[in-house]
Amino acid sequence: MSGIPIPVEDTSGVSGIDGSGTAHATALLAPNPSPMTLDGTNTWVVGRAETVIVVDPGPDHDAHLRRVADHLAGRRVAAVLLTHGHDDHSGGARKFAEMVGAPVRALDPRHRLGDEGLGDGDVIDLDGLEVRVVGTPGHSSDSLCFWLPEDRAMLTGDTILGRGTTVIAPDGHLADYLRSLDRLRAGAEILAAEALLPGHGPVLADPVGVLDGYIAHRRRRLDQIRQAIRDGAGDARQIVEIVYADVDRALWPAAEMSVAAQLDYLKSL
Ligand SMILES: [Zn+2]
Repeated sequence: MSGIPIPVEDTSGVSGIDGSGTAHATALLAPNPSPMTLDGTNTWVVGRAETVIVVDPGPDHDAHLRRVADHLAGRRVAAVLLTHGHDDHSGGARKFAEMVGAPVRALDPRHRLGDEGLGDGDVIDLDGLEVRVVGTPGHSSDSLCFWLPEDRAMLTGDTILGRGTTVIAPDGHLADYLRSLDRLRAGAEILAAEALLPGHGPVLADPVGVLDGYIAHRRRRLDQIRQAIRDGAGDARQIVEIVYADVDRALWPAAEMSVAAQLDYLKSL
């Protein structure tokens, strides 16, 4: 469950994502590409020395999980962290955690392995490298981002994608999402963020610019939906046919979900 990619030419290339990242965070691309997961899920390995965390082991895919374990080359996994519980991020978490002898920490207790949870304000120390947890509900109610101060980089899960925009899943809320975007935008500016490390798609430079784009996109879509309703569209499907006319029809079911979330939001105003 992730995004509605805006149709753009993909010049990043799969090999460009795999192995990319920052000084202390490396992406390992899972082989689960689809219109909803873009090139596949990015599993992130974060650390500077002997202790690492693994963020989003991805789907339950043995070869990918083994490859991530091999990449560790003997380093200890302090914890497996989940940006959220959707299966393309969490499906292999328990198996991977057992493989490397680590707990799984997530906001949603159903996805944990071990006693420790994870939530806004938590700080994890990896040999002096800090990972700060930022609560960003919206795409899903359990979405978290992870800020790496030393790299000025934010791991964003599905809250921000490397291409296109994110949908609001049935377990998320647009009002929460808009607040999370505002919070990330303010944080990115104050903290002088230099990179967003998404759950799908390539690393993004210019975090403030990307977040401004996301916020503007949301406002534009809401305006388009208000206009479609004024033009007589009666339900989410009819709105999709008007507002998402330029988007691949394979993505219309996801768009319908997104429109439903926006209609809920407009009704709540
Ligand atoms: Zn998701």
